[in-house]
Amino acid sequence: MLHLQNYIGGALLAPLSGRYLPNIEPATGQVFSQIPDSDATDVARAVQAAEAALPAWRLLPAEDRGRLLVRISELIERDLERLAQAESQDNGKPVGLARVVDIPRAASNFAFFGTAAQHFASETHFQEGVALNYTVRHPLGVVGCISPWNLPLYLFTWKIAPALAAGCCVVAKPSEITPYTAFLLSELCIEAGLPAGVLNIVHGTGPGAGQAIIEHPAIKAISFTGGTKTGEHIARTAAPMFKKLSLELGGKNPNLVFADCDLREAVQTSLRSSFANQGQICLCGSRIFVERPIYEQFKEQFLAGVAQLTVADPQEAGSRQGALVSEAHLQKVLSYIALAHEEGGTLLAGGQRVRLDGRCAEGYFLQPTVFEGLAPDCRVNREEIFGPVVTLTPFDTEKEALTWANGTEYGLAATIWTRDLNRAHRVAHELQSGIVWVNTWLHRDLRTPFGGMKSSGVGREGGLEALRFFTEPQSITVKL
Ligand code: NDP
Repeated sequence: MLHLQNYIGGALLAPLSGRYLPNIEPATGQVFSQIPDSDATDVARAVQAAEAALPAWRLLPAEDRGRLLVRISELIERDLERLAQAESQDNGKPVGLARVVDIPRAASNFAFFGTAAQHFASETHFQEGVALNYTVRHPLGVVGCISPWNLPLYLFTWKIAPALAAGCCVVAKPSEITPYTAFLLSELCIEAGLPAGVLNIVHGTGPGAGQAIIEHPAIKAISFTGGTKTGEHIARTAAPMFKKLSLELGGKNPNLVFADCDLREAVQTSLRSSFANQGQICLCGSRIFVERPIYEQFKEQFLAGVAQLTVADPQEAGSRQGALVSEAHLQKVLSYIALAHEEGGTLLAGGQRVRLDGRCAEGYFLQPTVFEGLAPDCRVNREEIFGPVVTLTPFDTEKEALTWANGTEYGLAATIWTRDLNRAHRVAHELQSGIVWVNTWLHRDLRTPFGGMKSSGVGREGGLEALRFFTEPQSITVKL
C-alpha cells in the first residue's frame, strides 16, 4: 500500500501524530493509498520551514526563481504519463483527459509564471519638478494555497506557481480526496532543487489541516478554490485577521445557443462543456438555453452525441466518461436527479448509476444525464450539482435568455453561440459572469484574469492579477 508523505522543509515527512487516512480509487471503490492526517502541529512545522526559507527566496533574482519553476515544469512534462495515470486513478477521470488537459496545463502553469516574474513591473508617477513617486511590490510572505479535487494538479499549481514566482513561500493543501499528484509534485520539487521550505505540502482534511492553515497568524494570504460554503467559512475566519483572500468558488454556468450559430460546432462543444470530467469542472455549462427555432434540432443532435459518451474504466483508452470522485458525491448528484423528477423535469437521457464489470464493479459511475421541461428558476437550475447533469430549455428572446442566464447567485463562466458579432458583444457585456466564451469553451490564455462574480468568488487569478495578489504595493515618494 502506497503511503504518501507531507513535504515540509524540503523533506518527505510522516505526520507528527502518525495518523493516516485511506485514499480511495473512485473507479474501483477500493483503498489504494494512505495519506497523512495532518493537524495544526504539522502546519506549524510547515509555516516555520516557510518562514526560514523566505528571506533568501524573496531576495533571489526573479530570473533564478523562474529557472527553478521552469525546471519543475520540464519534470512534469517528462513524467506526463506517470502523472496522468496517477491523476486518473486518484480522481476517476479518463486517463486520456488527464494526458491532454490536467497534466500539460499543470506544466504550463510553472513555465508561464516562471517566465512571467521577469516581466512583472511596477509603476512610477512622476510629478514634474516636484516629486518622483514609485511603487515597489513586495512579496506578501508566507501564503496558504488550498485546492479542490476536480482538477487536482492543474488547480494546485495554478496557485502555487504564481505565489513562488512572486517571491512568497507557500504552505499548500490539496484535497484529501485527490492528494496523489500533489505528493508526486513534491518529489519533483526535490529533484528540481527547489530550496527547502520554499514550498510545503501538507496533506489532510479540510477541518484539520485546512483549518489550521487559514487560522495560522503567520500566513498572510489564502488563495482558495472550492465550494461557496467553504469559501464563506474561510472568509469569516481569515478576514478578521486581515489576511488577503482570493476565493474561486462554485458556479452554475449558462450556455446560450442562438439560432444563427454554427450548430454542429455548438453541439460538439456543448457535449464537452456539459460532460468533460463527468461534469465536475467549475466551468462546465450545466444550463443550456437554446433559441426556439433550433431547439428540436439541437436536442436531437445533442442526445445523439450523449449516446456516444461511453462510460467505462477511466484507465481504458476509449473511456469518455470515468467515475465520479466519491460515493458521497455520486449520492449528492443522484439526489439532484431525483429532485429534477420531483420538480417536473422530463428525463431525456441517462439518470442511472452504472455498474461496470470486473475491477470497476464497485466504482462510482453515472450515466450522462439530460433533462428538459424544468423551470429556469427551479432548484435544479439554480443550485450547483457539479456532475454529469444538464438541463435543456428553449428561449424566445435575447432578453429572456439573459434574465435566465443571470438568474442564479453564481457568476463564474458563460458560453455564447452565435455568428452575430454585435449580439456576441452585447450579450457578453450583459452577462454577470467573470468569464465569457464566444463560440468556444475552456479556451485558455494564462494572461487573462480568471474568476467569478457574485457568489462565485472574490478576486482574480491568472497572469498579472495573480502576481499582484501575491505581492503588496508600497508607494515611495521622493521630493525633488
Ligand atoms: P470544498 O470546498 O469542499 O473543498 C476545497 C478545499 O478546501 C479542499 O482542499 C478541502 O479539503 C478544503 N477545506 C474544506 N474545509 C476547509 C476548512 N474549514 N478550512 C480550510 N480548508 C478547507 O470543495 P470541493 O473539493 O468539493 O470542490 C468542489 C467545489 O469547488 C465546487 O463547488 C466547484 O465549483 C468549486 N471549484 C471552483 C473553481 C473555480 O475556479 N471557481 C474551480 C474548481 C472547483 P478536503 O477536500 O480535504 O475536505
